Amino acid sequence: MRDLTPEALLAAVNAWVAIESPTQDAEGVNRVSEHAESLLRAIGASIERIPGENSIGDILIGRVPGAANGPGILLLGHMDTVHPVGTLAEPLPMRVEGDRAYGPGIYDMKGGNAIAFSALAHLHATGKRPHLPVTVMMIPDEEIGSPFSRPYIEAEAEAKKHAIVLVVEPSGDFGRITIARHGIARYHLKTTGIPAHAGAYHSKGRSAIREMARQILTIEDMTDYARNVTLNVGIVHGGTHENMVPLHAEAIIYCLVPLPEHEAEVRAKLLALKSHDPDVKLEVTPGLYRPSFVKSPAIQRLYDHAAKLAEEIGYPVKGERVAGGGSDGNFTGALGVPTLDGLGVLGDGPHTHQEYLLVSCLVPRTKLLVRLFETLDASFGAKS
Ligand SMILES: [Zn+2]
Repeated sequence: MRDLTPEALLAAVNAWVAIESPTQDAEGVNRVSEHAESLLRAIGASIERIPGENSIGDILIGRVPGAANGPGILLLGHMDTVHPVGTLAEPLPMRVEGDRAYGPGIYDMKGGNAIAFSALAHLHATGKRPHLPVTVMMIPDEEIGSPFSRPYIEAEAEAKKHAIVLVVEPSGDFGRITIARHGIARYHLKTTGIPAHAGAYHSKGRSAIREMARQILTIEDMTDYARNVTLNVGIVHGGTHENMVPLHAEAIIYCLVPLPEHEAEVRAKLLALKSHDPDVKLEVTPGLYRPSFVKSPAIQRLYDHAAKLAEEIGYPVKGERVAGGGSDGNFTGALGVPTLDGLGVLGDGPHTHQEYLLVSCLVPRTKLLVRLFETLDASFGAKS
């Protein structure tokens, strides 16, 4: 892409958004990875594909040579969205209204992937190279916590393989860059009651759903907004027939735990839950945990540099942000690799039917990535 225009960039974004790719649809995610692969091949990247497992799509890796050798930049993006197939037809068709371009996953985070790829394509088309080598890593399962990809991401980040990590997740608050992220912990809760016919033998049954309902209130009451510790029971299943006292109920709890000590506290409280009805069994199992990452001096240097470049481009960033939600940047940040996140597009409504990006951000945010690729050198990789 020689000329960075809003039209060309929006077309590049829409090519990603037009392929629906909820995490659970490995075929859809792999169609996105094929699109990404063709873009990477066009700029001379070498390609690796790690086949997915358990209905998860593949991880796609493209290695782009730099002008200098040595540990380079790991660029992280995810190809999956939370939107089921069909969302594109209704209720979230791709369309432009004023400065807003709508579509499933356009903000989180196909827009970010598209501008990062366009930045690399622009360097290629103008006969330039990133200063450091760039490894583009496209993740298939971020929206469910990257259970498959985590070890591969950590392997790329670890052992000085890469000096710097850039994550093109959406920018928050219309222009902030993410310099830290809270931890995210998931827990699974299961209640097992005693089944009975709900007509003739109701008194002999012990309801798994009734117990679950009481537990949900207890769990959500553990939320402490003052410390940014939140517990959300986001999924509940239970029962099989309306005329049966239910045997099983299950819930998944999503916890925002800013620091490791918050995670320890929440874990202790959840594991100590007791069932109100002694005849109902209660099990709490810890699920995926994304550790928090905090701003280090190296992240501060990366941020200051990006802010200066954005100023030169004439599209200043709106400051730093500690993000609530997790990203794959949590893994690399927690390993101590300098990680700058939220370098993607501006917009709003992630995970909703009002998801959009701002068309006016596309050119300046692509230029910011071009300038980062051109200027980041080994001195930014120092861990302290
Ligand atoms: Zn995302």
